[in-house]
Amino acid sequence: MQIIIFGSPGVGKGTQAKILSQKYNIKHISTGDILRESVARGTELGLAAKELMDQGDLVPDNLMGGLVKETLENMDYKKGFILDGFPRTLAQCDLMDKIFADLKIDNPYFIVLESDSEIIVNRLTARRLCEKCGTIVNINNIHDMEICPNCGAKDSLIKRKDDTKEVVRKRLEIYKKTTFPVIDYYRDKYNFIFLNGADTISVVSQNIIERLS
Ligand SMILES: [Zn+2]
Repeated sequence: MQIIIFGSPGVGKGTQAKILSQKYNIKHISTGDILRESVARGTELGLAAKELMDQGDLVPDNLMGGLVKETLENMDYKKGFILDGFPRTLAQCDLMDKIFADLKIDNPYFIVLESDSEIIVNRLTARRLCEKCGTIVNINNIHDMEICPNCGAKDSLIKRKDDTKEVVRKRLEIYKKTTFPVIDYYRDKYNFIFLNGADTISVVSQNIIERLS
């Protein structure tokens, strides 16, 4: 099962990717993991990426594409994978096409987790981070705003700077602007599964698994 997963910020893409990775016993590779692992392995491309990141620069598309390919080649990609975070732009689609061709990946599934923007805005602005243990909680799901439900710390739940309505709306706009063209680019070529990502975690994962089987 070779899967590319898309989803807006806050839709639970990472969580679903983890569930699918366990269910199908395939590796979940996010671009963040790819960067970290390539740097740790000390490959030529990994070191080039590290130099850029150390300077605070973004890793350019070409390099990111090379890292994705290198990571896939270094694992049993024929057995399956779930790729998360690439391709993110139309320029990256060209690189992905090359990777598909070079590695003979000809039947990937594209999963798109959709959700109404305002649901995401409400979800993300209801998040609080515990400064003590790092747990993220939703204020709608806890009884006492002053106590961390995980570690019991008092007054440790803080709102992150990027969880304001304005910032979340902006991130959603950027997501749409960059990702929708990528989806359009591929939707006639490969199998697409569009799903409502606003349901509960278990309903979403059940729906994905049903559609995949
Ligand atoms: Zn805590």
